[in-house]
Amino acid sequence: MNRFTKKRAPASPDTIRQLKAWVQEILSLSADTPVSISQLQCHEPGCSPVETVIAIMLQPVQTFKIHGSIEEVTQANLLRLLRPKQPQLQDSETKHSGSEDSLDVVRSQ
Ligand SMILES: [Zn+2]
Repeated sequence: MNRFTKKRAPASPDTIRQLKAWVQEILSLSADTPVSISQLQCHEPGCSPVETVIAIMLQPVQTFKIHGSIEEVTQANLLRLLRPKQPQLQDSETKHSGSEDSLDVVRSQ
């Protein structure tokens, strides 16, 4: 038995492809915009031991971090991370912990 194998399984190519597709979809990127997904170790105390780094090869390059392994990243994580900020939040950066007003949807028909 090999006791020295890495504790975390490498992310599958399918998972990485899926994440790239979600990033491209959320940001409306063209299919030829390179998106890099990598998994790094995080050494900050209190953080999860691995984090996923998403780099979008625009000019300038945009990078985003999600605490957790690539396999743990969900489409909802990406939506929250990549969704453009609302201009009203500019002067008061209050942190909302999860409660969204998105339920207030009015149907036109
Ligand atoms: Zn961290």
